[in-house]
Amino acid sequence: MSDTVDVAIIGAGPYGLSVAAHLRAANADYRHFGIPMHLWQTAMPKGMFLKSQGFASNLSDPAGTHTLEAFCKATGRPYASYGLPVPLDTFVSYGQWFQSGLGLPVEEVLVTEVARRDGGFELNVGGERLLAGKVVVAIGVEHFAYVPGPLSELPAELCTHSSAHADLAAFSGREVVVVGAGQSALESAALLHENGAQVQVLAREQQVAWNGQPLALDRPLPQRLREPESGLGSGWATWFYSNHPELFRHLPQNTRVHRARTALGPAGASWLRGRVEGKFPVLTGQTVTSAEPHDGRVRLSVTAAGGAGRELDCDHVIAATGYRTDLTRLTFLSAAVRSGLRTVAGSPAVGRDYQSSVPGLYFAGTAVAPTMGPVMRFVYGTRHAAPAVARQVAAVPGRNARPAEAVSR
Ligand SMILES: Cc1cc2nc3c(=O)[nH]c(=O)nc-3n(C[C@H](O)[C@H](O)[C@H](O)COP(=O)(O)OP(=O)(O)OC[C@H]3O[C@@H](n4cnc5c(N)ncnc54)[C@H](O)[C@@H]3O)c2cc1C
Repeated sequence: MSDTVDVAIIGAGPYGLSVAAHLRAANADYRHFGIPMHLWQTAMPKGMFLKSQGFASNLSDPAGTHTLEAFCKATGRPYASYGLPVPLDTFVSYGQWFQSGLGLPVEEVLVTEVARRDGGFELNVGGERLLAGKVVVAIGVEHFAYVPGPLSELPAELCTHSSAHADLAAFSGREVVVVGAGQSALESAALLHENGAQVQVLAREQQVAWNGQPLALDRPLPQRLREPESGLGSGWATWFYSNHPELFRHLPQNTRVHRARTALGPAGASWLRGRVEGKFPVLTGQTVTSAEPHDGRVRLSVTAAGGAGRELDCDHVIAATGYRTDLTRLTFLSAAVRSGLRTVAGSPAVGRDYQSSVPGLYFAGTAVAPTMGPVMRFVYGTRHAAPAVARQVAAVPGRNARPAEAVSR
């Protein structure tokens, strides 16, 4: 026997929780699946700080009452909207407080199948069959960890993606090479070093980019006009990405794909710089051309920008090489659903309401960055996506026709 619901939300990170907050406020008939704040609890290292500013790290609720600032005030934690990095554990607790404070029921189970059925969808949720009129997919990046060519062939005991580590202290006393040049690579390396590992960073880029110090909010008007501050950083382009995803989607497709991938990165936060420079080697212009197990360790062949090659041995390689959306990895979507999706650069194309080409199937978060822009890679994008998705999916004809007690939660 199947249960029936108007809307199913898949994913309970910042995007899924924000969509749920809006649906609950609209008294919508929905069920919500996923592990709350799972990525933040399991795929980021202890001791990490968010790169986004305090004011740009809010989940979205319709009344705007459940902000990071309100959470910090309620729990006596330090907070500044700008210039004070947010610790990872604060952000995880904030997500949990947001969920409980707004009374958002989340069923901590994964969805293993979504198939078309009678104009809606049939889901397999931990063995239970559920019929849903509409489905919102907010599954973030955890299915999309990307390890490039030569490294991907190494066994897991010798090479892991950065998302495999919630505590880098496990590498104390070991020689570790971190591959990458973004915040994740640089902060992981700093934490490894501070936890007693011997670390070096290999970056393909010719130099490491560092974000500037936050701009003073009270700087003179002409300066603010020249370089406005926004959720994702400063400058007019960044202001546009931060505030206008609904206009970004009208840019030519090639521009959208390029900007979604390259805007805002890779770069280290200004507050991280002193924990990296002069503390351990950061070698730029380096390409790993091969990687092999060697006497229980790893042997890397590395080519420098000028063409000179050398070998480098270490105990472990951490690939801080990011995430790439790849719909073929979403095996919980049936083949028929996946083949019905129109894609842009491997990501689902969506309309202004975040609906994909499969009617009733919505996507929010990183997966829609090639359509809605780079803000979708960040928590700040919830303020646009969550109300837009909820407005659309809550408007289900016949909503609440099914008695609420028929839902087993
Ligand atoms: C190291 C690192 C640092 C970052 N720092 C920042 C930062 O400072 N600021 C910022 O704005 N962004 C940051 N990000 C980006 C961050 O990932 C996103 O902003 C945010 O997590 C997106 O939220 P989300 O809800 O889309 O996905 P996620 O937070 O990834 O949540 C995904 C949810 O989907 C669920 N799920 C997955 N598959 C299924 C399934 N089959 N069934 C049910 N549920 C499922 C998971 O359980 C989880 O609940 C960082 C990312 C990384 C990797």
